[in-house]
Amino acid sequence: MSKKSKLTKRILIGLVLGAAFGILLSFIPEGYVRDTILIDGLISMVGGVFISGIKMLVVPLVFVSLVCGASALGDPKKLGRVGAKTLLFYLVTTCIAITLALGIGSLINPGVGLDLSNIVKEEPTIGASKSFVDVIIGMVPSNPINALASGEMLQIIVFALLTGISLSLVKEKAQPVVDLFEALNTLMMKMVMIIMMVAPVGVFALITKTFATVGFEAMIPLLKYMIAVILALILHAGLTYMGMLSTIGKLNPIQFFKNFIPAMGVAFSTASSSGTLPVTLETAEERCGVSKNIASFTLPLGATINMDGTAIMQGVAVIFISQVYGIDLSIQALLTVVLTATLASVGTAGVPGVGLITLSMVLQSVGLPIEGIALIIGIDRLLDMTRTVVNITGDTVCTILISKSENEFNPDIYYAKNEASELSA
Ligand code: ASP
Repeated sequence: MSKKSKLTKRILIGLVLGAAFGILLSFIPEGYVRDTILIDGLISMVGGVFISGIKMLVVPLVFVSLVCGASALGDPKKLGRVGAKTLLFYLVTTCIAITLALGIGSLINPGVGLDLSNIVKEEPTIGASKSFVDVIIGMVPSNPINALASGEMLQIIVFALLTGISLSLVKEKAQPVVDLFEALNTLMMKMVMIIMMVAPVGVFALITKTFATVGFEAMIPLLKYMIAVILALILHAGLTYMGMLSTIGKLNPIQFFKNFIPAMGVAFSTASSSGTLPVTLETAEERCGVSKNIASFTLPLGATINMDGTAIMQGVAVIFISQVYGIDLSIQALLTVVLTATLASVGTAGVPGVGLITLSMVLQSVGLPIEGIALIIGIDRLLDMTRTVVNITGDTVCTILISKSENEFNPDIYYAKNEASELSA
C-alpha cells in the first residue's frame, strides 16, 4: 500500500520535473549539447528503453492472461445460464463504454492544438485501409507462432481464447498446463511491477522530450485529455449503470452508490480491481444484498475480464493520439477500436497500469504510433485510480442485476443501509 503510493508520488514527481526541465530546455537555443547530447541522446535513450520495456511485455502478458481467464471461464460447469448472462452484460457494457469514450473524445478533441506529426518515425500503416470484413477474417491466425512473433494482437487473442477454453475442456490431464499458465501469469505481473518501478525515470525522460520539443503547448491538450476521460467515466457510471439499475433492476441507483462507497474508496486508492476484490465481494454481499453464489462467480470474473473504465481511457487515448499525430481514423478504424478495446479490456489484468500496456495493442490495430503512450503515461496514475472505480462498479452492477434475475437478491439488505445511514462508517 505505502509502496504503491510511493510509486505514485515518484511518477508524479517524474512528470512535474520532466515538464519543468523540458520547458527549460525549450527556452535554450538549439545546439550540440541541448539537442545531440541531451534531447536526442540521453533523454531519448532513457525514454526509448522504457517504452521498449512496455512493448516487450504486451504479447506475453495478453496471451498468458487471456489463456488463464478463458480456462477459468470455459469450465463447463460454470458456463451455464449465469455465465452466458454475465458475459453478455460485460461485453455489451464495455462496447457502450468505448463508444461513449470515442464520442466524448471526438467532441472535446483533446489532441487538437498539439502537433507531433513530424515526430512519427515510421510511416503509419493505417489499419483503416483494411475493411471490417478483412479484420474479422484476419482474426484467425493461420500460423499462431507467426502471430505471436509479429505481435498480431487480434490473432493472438483468438488463439489464447481457444487455448484457454480447450484447457478447461481437457480437464485433469491439462491441469499441469493450467498451473504453468497461472505461474506464468504471476511472473508477468512481477515483470509489470518491475517495469513500473523504473516508470518515474521513464516518465521524466519522455515528458522532458515532449515539453522540450513542443513547450507549453502540450499542457492544455493533456488537461483536455484528462477531462475527456473523467467525463466519459462519470457519464458511463451515471447513465449506463444507473440507467440499467433503475430500468432493468427496478432499484434505486442512488442507493447503490451509497452502499458501494467503501469498495470505490479502496479501488481508487489501490488502482487495482484484483486488489479490491475482497472488499468488492464483501460490499456486494453485505451492503448490496446479492447472493454469495452469484457474487463469487461474477465478481472475480469481472475483476479479470470486465474493464469498462479501462476501455474508456483507451477510447479517448485513441482519439487523442490520432489527433496529435495527425492521423485520420475512418469509420472502419473506429469499429476496429471498439472491437480491440473490448478485447483489450478482457486481456487487461486488474492491477495498476496494465490498461496502458494493452492500449498499445489497440493503437497497433489501427496503425497509430505506440510512442503516443509516452504522452499520457505521466498523467495516467490518477486516471488509473478513477477508471478502476468504474471497472469494479460495472462488475457489481452486473452482479446485482443477475442476482435479481435469478431470485437471489435481498432487497432488505440493499435498502437497509438507507435508514441505518451507515454510510460514513
Ligand atoms: N488498474 C486497472 C484495474 O485494476 C486496470 C488498468 O486499466 O490498468 O482495474
